[in-house]
Amino acid sequence: MKSLAMVLTAFGRKLEAREIEIPPLEEGQILVKITAAGVCGSDVHMYKGNDPRTPLPMILGHEGVGEIVELRGKRFTVEGEELRAGDAILWNRGVSCGHCYFCAVAGTPALCPERWVYGITRPCTEWPYLNGCYAEYIILSADTDLFKLPPALDPAVVVPVSCSGATAAHCFDYIQPRIGDTVLIQGPGPVGIFATYFAALHGAKTIIMIGGTDRRLAIAKEFGVTHTLNRKTTSIEDRREIILQLTHGRGVDYAIEAVGTPAAVKEGVALVRTGGVYLSVGFGDPNGRVELDCFFDLGRKNLTYQGVWVSATRHTSIALQSVLKNPSLFATLVDRRLPLTEANLALDLMAQKETVKTVLLPAAGGDGSE
Ligand SMILES: [Zn+2]
Ligand SMILES: [Zn+2]
Repeated sequence: MKSLAMVLTAFGRKLEAREIEIPPLEEGQILVKITAAGVCGSDVHMYKGNDPRTPLPMILGHEGVGEIVELRGKRFTVEGEELRAGDAILWNRGVSCGHCYFCAVAGTPALCPERWVYGITRPCTEWPYLNGCYAEYIILSADTDLFKLPPALDPAVVVPVSCSGATAAHCFDYIQPRIGDTVLIQGPGPVGIFATYFAALHGAKTIIMIGGTDRRLAIAKEFGVTHTLNRKTTSIEDRREIILQLTHGRGVDYAIEAVGTPAAVKEGVALVRTGGVYLSVGFGDPNGRVELDCFFDLGRKNLTYQGVWVSATRHTSIALQSVLKNPSLFATLVDRRLPLTEANLALDLMAQKETVKTVLLPAAGGDGSE
């Protein structure tokens, strides 16, 4: 049996449709038929060659949902349910070693130096070859953390959980907004929108979103954003003045940067109040430097500057529970569905920020649906 896969063979060159032979499974492995694969901003960085982790040739796609076709031996979900062929599953996109200092002592498996990720770190020349989600099938390793999904759920709605949702959940390990707090979120992409949802859940009273696309900003409002600022129609001075007015001249309690540009960091740090926290989660590739004044911006201000890198299984669990509780709300994030063979178009749409979340539907074939 073979699997169609969209393969990145050279940076900046269109993905190539290839038929890859599905190898026999080894103990603990699972063959999964992908029912939906998400297109992430990181996929664009990798496609362009800006992510130093990218091996070639490779199958892109680290956000996936699918149905078990075959499993070798017994496999269980993180909740302890035994899985069987036909079950719909989500899996944690990264696999950490479980035994190093970061996994076993610090309790931060996202920072494991051995962590590898489907659709990011392994080429399709490395056994078992089907290592990414832009394909009809993927083979999951024995040490992948698994979640069982309700059978009737639209798989496309769950897709953003595995990267964007989990990464946004990771931010809330470092901040717990109190009822009445003000949170600024920079970037109305999927990470920023999930972060909005979590901030609102904690009780933040005012959630301000800065973005550059009215359509994305409008979707963010559905998730709890109270004030939107389009950076294309306002100046940096306008935005500062509006935010200071909303916060009694203090600045916001927390800001979450989900953009990945130095300009966003420079603007955002200046909008946080004395004693506040700035979280930077948007940098998926090395994208420049920021100059901060160590006295005024950091010391005198008692600012906490927190970087946030990827996520661990428990963050995926938090994001999944959120989507399962309110699937119709999260369905609004998925604003484009395309067949697998249109992966190149999907990457273009993502690069132009034309969509919030494009989902590829390998099982749909043909012309796909909107
Ligand atoms: Zn480890
Ligand atoms: Zn991602």
